[in-house]
Amino acid sequence: MSNPLDGGAGSRVFCAFTEGFGHGRDKMLMGCIADDFTGATDLAGLLARSGAKVNLRIGVPEAAPSEVADFEVIALKCRTEPVADAVAQTRAALAWLARAGAERFFWKYCSTFDSTAEGNIGPVSEALMADLGVSQTIYCPAFPENGRSIFMGNLFVGEQPLAESPMKDHPLTPMRDSNLMRLLEPQVRGAVGLANRLVVEKGAAALKARLAALAADGVAHVVVDAVSDRDLDVIAEACLEMKLMTGGSAVAMPLPRLLGAGGTVAGGAFSAPEGGAIVLSGSCSAMTRAQVAAYLHQAAGFRLDPLELAEHGVGPARDWLAKQDPMAAKIMYATAEPAAVKAVQAKLGVGKAGQIVEDALAELAVLARELGTRRFVVAGGETSGAVTKALRVETLRVGPEVAPGVPWSFTRSAGHDIALTLKSGNFGAETFFDDALGMLT
Ligand code: ADP
Repeated sequence: MSNPLDGGAGSRVFCAFTEGFGHGRDKMLMGCIADDFTGATDLAGLLARSGAKVNLRIGVPEAAPSEVADFEVIALKCRTEPVADAVAQTRAALAWLARAGAERFFWKYCSTFDSTAEGNIGPVSEALMADLGVSQTIYCPAFPENGRSIFMGNLFVGEQPLAESPMKDHPLTPMRDSNLMRLLEPQVRGAVGLANRLVVEKGAAALKARLAALAADGVAHVVVDAVSDRDLDVIAEACLEMKLMTGGSAVAMPLPRLLGAGGTVAGGAFSAPEGGAIVLSGSCSAMTRAQVAAYLHQAAGFRLDPLELAEHGVGPARDWLAKQDPMAAKIMYATAEPAAVKAVQAKLGVGKAGQIVEDALAELAVLARELGTRRFVVAGGETSGAVTKALRVETLRVGPEVAPGVPWSFTRSAGHDIALTLKSGNFGAETFFDDALGMLT
């Protein structure tokens, strides 16, 4: 049988776009697609750690790129979209990356495998596999540095199984099972299997042999255990020839080194655009709740109540923001405890509650920019999607990390240079907001 790790030359994307965008196809080492914005910055930040050049593009660009980086990351906002939309968006991203010269691809989702029952992770993987003509891929959302590990196919957050962690109460994607095979099976048509830690521990050759054996048995979707960065090195090495890898950001971290990218390591001193700063938080994750509480001790704060927003609109929040000193520390947040979120959702519906908050924070971000804000700290994956869209951000240059998986990035919005950091719910220390802005002073 053909090599299961090799998509072959006849894959559909390459057939469809053999002409490319008309520049060196060999320049991009990997094309990456992320299912939300903070996921994309997380991945981009970890890749940039190596010194590799990383571009982050918000949505699928309409035009050909004027230049490509070692790693191109396309940020989508498709985690909770209907399956068909998510599949269409990711396939469009794959096609753009292929035309821009990518020959290897990475499908990035959350390290807590965030998905609904109709989840998009599996269907998107299967669609990308079909486009690339590959018969097998891996699933490795582990991020040991942030406490996400996988053992015997079960995902842990710190010492808690996923379904006992705060993720069980997520507003949009409550995770009620910790077993990745059980979560994935209903989402895919192909067979699901496991390469467990005992195999990974033996090294890349053993893992490669296990993947080949599973492929020979017709297993298309392989969950791979990882509890440490060393495991991730083994997995990345074993899967280097795969045309499509899927996972959290951390399993991609060894790829720049393995693919021969690198340079001056990002970090250290850097210049950020001058101007005011704001923290916008729509994340209700446990860590964000602690971060908001901590930051309220040192910054002026405005709490957005979804019920008030539904009744009175964003006017009061806009008025509050307009009265603030543009240069002073400030936070606007909808962040609330799980019981409060549930109560609001019961009244407004889950979708509408989320949308109202996202729309409000997006509008406030635009107002903040108009008032002279140039440094934006945004908490929440969906929230970041809404904010970057409103700011009409297109391509970001990825800079140094504030915390593992959360880099600063630099871009332009309405003719202004701005700095943005997009934080996924549970990332960062309790002092994250202050840490982030402190790096820019
Ligand atoms: P995270 O990264 O923590 O998952 P997200 O921004 O992705 O954060 O998701 C949080 C969702 O919860 C968003 O859709 C947001 O609008 C919504 N939300 C925020 N605050 C509230 C609230 N007080 N009540 C209901 N929903 C809320």
